[in-house]
Amino acid sequence: MLTKVVKFGGSSLADAKHFKQVADIIHADPARRYVVPSAPGKRSKDDTKVTDMLYRCYEMIRNHESADIIDAYYDNIRERYNGIIRELGLDFDISGELDYVKNAMTHASGRDYAASRGEYLNSLVLAKYLGFSFIDAENVIFFRENGTFDEERTNAVLAEELKKHEYAVIPGFYGSMPNGTIKTFSRGGSDITGSIVARAANADLYENWTDVSGFLMADPRIVDNPPPIETITYRELRELSYMGATVLHDEAIFPVRYANIPINIRNTNAPEDAGTMIVSKATGYDARRIITGVAGKKGFSVIHIEKDMMNAEVGFGRRVLDVLEDHDISFEHLPSGIDTMSIVVSTQELEGRRERIINAINRQVRADHVEIMDGLSLVAVVGRGMVKARGTAARVFNAVSAAGINIRMIDQGSSELNIILGVDEDSYEPALRAIFNEFVK
Ligand code: ASP
Repeated sequence: MLTKVVKFGGSSLADAKHFKQVADIIHADPARRYVVPSAPGKRSKDDTKVTDMLYRCYEMIRNHESADIIDAYYDNIRERYNGIIRELGLDFDISGELDYVKNAMTHASGRDYAASRGEYLNSLVLAKYLGFSFIDAENVIFFRENGTFDEERTNAVLAEELKKHEYAVIPGFYGSMPNGTIKTFSRGGSDITGSIVARAANADLYENWTDVSGFLMADPRIVDNPPPIETITYRELRELSYMGATVLHDEAIFPVRYANIPINIRNTNAPEDAGTMIVSKATGYDARRIITGVAGKKGFSVIHIEKDMMNAEVGFGRRVLDVLEDHDISFEHLPSGIDTMSIVVSTQELEGRRERIINAINRQVRADHVEIMDGLSLVAVVGRGMVKARGTAARVFNAVSAAGINIRMIDQGSSELNIILGVDEDSYEPALRAIFNEFVK
């Protein structure tokens, strides 16, 4: 029998109506054996996610706010779960669990413990509703002493545990430390849990159910009706999500990539949509389009360094990068000329230490001129089709220049999978639109 691991995001489990949709999806395919839920998310734009309520509650306890105020706030969390149970007509009393969590939070169980209970409680309800086993993530997902995820130990223990259950619910987002305390992944981390479970189950597919029908080719706030991406490789996805196209947690692809399991992004509210398939190697690409997607970000600066005969000076680049390393700054791109070197970094990283960095670079390499220029945005054009199609770069540059936009920087990744352009921030949206229209319309 096929095995699918299905992860449902918070918006897919925000209320009883969504629980029903989720159950329909799961029951529609017996291969959907292992379910990884998030905590209940927002029911409307102004609503608060349960995870955020738990963080807030934890802060209130730490700030020694009065017991009445904390109780009243915690009642809202209780009601999120009780409301779902009531509306589903489930014969399940979760009040003992809710009391226990509240008590543990009051007795210094830590911030991660508090946050993780959103997934824990939701999984209890969902397991009950589906009639599946419940496997607590704290017993099967492990972190090392230094806080990093322990993939070997997790995979061994989790794989054994899954074999004992034909159908099970495993809460997302958290695991345990060697001393037994609870630790969470970063925000949105249930995506990672889903991927870990898929690997341990040796699944045929990891379905990640959310509230959009996959990745779109571009940001719909900037271009009109961008089509969804049908198939994308892990590497293309890394490039696009690094540039802000976020549907899936950045780290979620590693466990499944390791095991060569495809991820299918699906929409709980439109289960008939095929969504986006994320695969290790795509057999082809859409020849009509060549590019897979275009994304970008604002908020970059360029550290521009000039020195005559720079190219003949062995170790120049290393000495400049040493300065960045000393300041714990990571750089994005490093386009260089014969006597110039530009380092693109996020403007935020320079905050409060511009002078120090300029002086340190001057000291290290005795440059003729060092200057920081702000207001750069980056646009990434990504596509496996670009490797084969000649003239793609020319089309990108022509489209941008025809829109009257000055290109301040060009960088082509060594894999030929992407072309990155640097343009002024106020040209960001027009540049993105120009490229999209060139390839998609
Ligand atoms: N509930 C957690 C969060 O809001 C984790 C997740 O949803 O993936 O970040």
